[in-house]
Amino acid sequence: MLSVCVPIYNEEESIPVLYEKVREVLCRLNQEWEIILINDGSIDGSATILDRLAQKDSRVKVVHFRRNYGQTAAMMAGIDYANGDVIIPIDADLQNDPEDIPKLLAKLDEGYDICSGWRKNRKDNGLRRNLPSQIANWIISKISGVQLHDYGCSLKAYKKDVIKEIKLYGEMHRFIPIYASWYGAKVTEIPVTHYPRKYGQSKYGLERVVKVILDLAVVKFLDRYAQKPMYIFGGAGMLSLLLSGLAAVWALYLKFFENTTFVQTPLPLMFVFTALTGVICLLMGLLAELIMRTYHESQKKDVYLVKETRNIKPDSHGYSDPVDRSS
Ligand code: UDP
Ligand code: MG
Repeated sequence: MLSVCVPIYNEEESIPVLYEKVREVLCRLNQEWEIILINDGSIDGSATILDRLAQKDSRVKVVHFRRNYGQTAAMMAGIDYANGDVIIPIDADLQNDPEDIPKLLAKLDEGYDICSGWRKNRKDNGLRRNLPSQIANWIISKISGVQLHDYGCSLKAYKKDVIKEIKLYGEMHRFIPIYASWYGAKVTEIPVTHYPRKYGQSKYGLERVVKVILDLAVVKFLDRYAQKPMYIFGGAGMLSLLLSGLAAVWALYLKFFENTTFVQTPLPLMFVFTALTGVICLLMGLLAELIMRTYHESQKKDVYLVKETRNIKPDSHGYSDPVDRSS
């Protein structure tokens, strides 16, 4: 079964057109399907239009949010409510072309777990949207090690089992392929068609690039260090203490061999600041380790993800010892 998920915030003109197009494409596929429309607190006529669609067609599922939570939350709800084993998010604004859905599915049939759309000919404002996004995409692929041209493209296809464990915050829906790939999913991309926005207006501006980069830092941190926060805090702390030692030695050398007193250089100041920073970092690392243990142990979270098992009953696993087995 296919689940197409559409986040909607004030898209009243687009919804009926989108529904018709998606329905037409899905009916051609000879598979069961559903469309999940998430109304992210729209304040135009979107809600009524959605309810009317749901009344007409039982394959249309509608989730109304109480207020506007943002596209990522809407996406998360789409994934949570989806019954399909393949999930396809698509924007409501008709900038993506539903005709690309079969091409994405063909890639999943080839054995990939995720196929991302790549808006090769992107039809948004060049300077304000495309350029910053190209730079962001480049940084993201460098830092994440997952090679994609266009993380921000909503139109993607996911096999449900590789993303059901993933929790999304902030602007993080674009990082799903990265998370999944870190957990062993096979990721690929294909170029998709992109159209200029016809109705309504974009909900975003330049400020999103900053959020995306900050989210990337969080994602990277959570993946690489969440189980061993001491490595990152402790690493920074040790570096700081090293600088502190160097400053001290240098200051003493200047005093005794070059006749430069302590007050003539900034070195003693550096010594004090870096020593303090170092100690604080190490203590924060210990705190973070405590928090991490509370997190894993209180929620019985495993430090690993199992792909599948043989001859093991689903809940014979029970409580897992939260020792770090990854390092
Ligand atoms: N959207 C949403 N909640 C928000 C902002 C946007 O559900 O708070 C939806 C919006 O209705 C659209 C999709 O997310 O279906 C992408 O938004 P937009 O087209 O504004 O982004 P852009 O294509 O300009 O990056
Ligand atoms: Mg758009």
